[in-house]
Amino acid sequence: MKNCVIVGVNWGDEGKGRMVDLLTERFDVVVRYQGGGNAGHTVVNDKGRFALHLLPSGIFRDGVVNLLGNGVALDPENLWKEIRDVRSKGVAVTPDNLKISDRASLLLPWHRDLDELEEKRLAAKRFGSTKQGIAPFYADKYQKKTILAGELFYPEELRSRLADLMEWKNLTLTGTYGAKPYTPAELDRWFRDFCEPVIPFVCDAGAWLRDADRSGRRILFEAQLGALRDLDFGIHPYTTSSNTLAAYAPIGAGLPSAKIDGVIGVVKAYSTCVGEGPFVCELFGEEAERLREAGAEYGAKTGRPRRVGPIDLVATRYGAEVQGTTEIALTKLDVLSYMEKIPVCVRYRLHGKETDRFPFPAELDKAEPVIEYLDGWQSDISRVRHFDDLPEAARNYVIYIERAIGCPVTYVSVGPERDSIIR
Ligand code: GDP
Repeated sequence: MKNCVIVGVNWGDEGKGRMVDLLTERFDVVVRYQGGGNAGHTVVNDKGRFALHLLPSGIFRDGVVNLLGNGVALDPENLWKEIRDVRSKGVAVTPDNLKISDRASLLLPWHRDLDELEEKRLAAKRFGSTKQGIAPFYADKYQKKTILAGELFYPEELRSRLADLMEWKNLTLTGTYGAKPYTPAELDRWFRDFCEPVIPFVCDAGAWLRDADRSGRRILFEAQLGALRDLDFGIHPYTTSSNTLAAYAPIGAGLPSAKIDGVIGVVKAYSTCVGEGPFVCELFGEEAERLREAGAEYGAKTGRPRRVGPIDLVATRYGAEVQGTTEIALTKLDVLSYMEKIPVCVRYRLHGKETDRFPFPAELDKAEPVIEYLDGWQSDISRVRHFDDLPEAARNYVIYIERAIGCPVTYVSVGPERDSIIR
């Protein structure tokens, strides 16, 4: 497979980072095509344990070139901190293995402030944003009120553009929120401390990618979050502000003409969700606590406890459909090993009727889960490497899910480490 997209099928946090880290053995290039530093991909490999936010997960493989495409929210402050952090753990990050598209828009300092101020204003009605400035960033991008990374090469023009943007944004900060305005000195500091250090990585990444594609290099497109957080097809308004779907990968990566050969959808063996909004299969109380502990379900970015529940086959089937998955990687099967009976959400009950169709977002909070139970295996499977060596109940669980989604499960992950995988 030459060009492949790896995506989340659910609400995010499915374990995409660990799958990309594993799959990069078969690829030459890894490209992030949307989102920003608002999610965390946790990767555990021979170099250590890392929580990546903006860097593509191919950064740990020698010889792999990593790209941040035009579709990402390029936050120079977070990126530079992340580069320094992984470098301090012995990982090489150079302009040879990291390239930033000159067409990527910069997340500006006030985007984070605005995110925080708006969540505060909403109080009990907040969206549960990670407060990384993603929504204000994309809103401004579509208003053409951001800066392209390539503009960093023209500091004089940039200074004047930034001054105009600052003047405009200060009206909102002070007028709408009564907050402190930005000053030119603060922007100068931001430019010096965070923009200057990343300039060496900025290039015409689109042209580089077209060359790489023509010369047959294998490209892995890495998504952030999952299908249900997609701006257009997710659970509006509890989505992110970018398109998390595989179909957006060629555009956001900077290779609009790319032919995609496969879409690997990552599905967790149970459900988790961070932030507010409908979550039909949510568990509460002791049952939830046990699953959260077993899966260590705390946000990689925020440390927030994740909401948990059984696998939701209605949402998962929809996610796989809109992603156009050609295969599924099922992660964290080992986490379910403690259960005697495993709950599975097979359908929803809506307006007194059972349905397997994923409802329109406004109806989601009226839906109730229809739960069936499969047998558990209650033994440690973390050292199993071949499907046939799994206990029968675990094999049945995987086969059941595969049939319900209607897409082959080609990987089953049984631990966070790179080699804890059945394929
Ligand atoms: P991503 O954003 O989709 O990459 O997912 P996260 O990194 O937020 O969450 C996945 C978490 O599960 C990380 O802490 C991984 O190290 C861990 N993980 C991934 N696969 C497995 C697995 O098969 N078993 C266990 N126990 N942990 C896993």
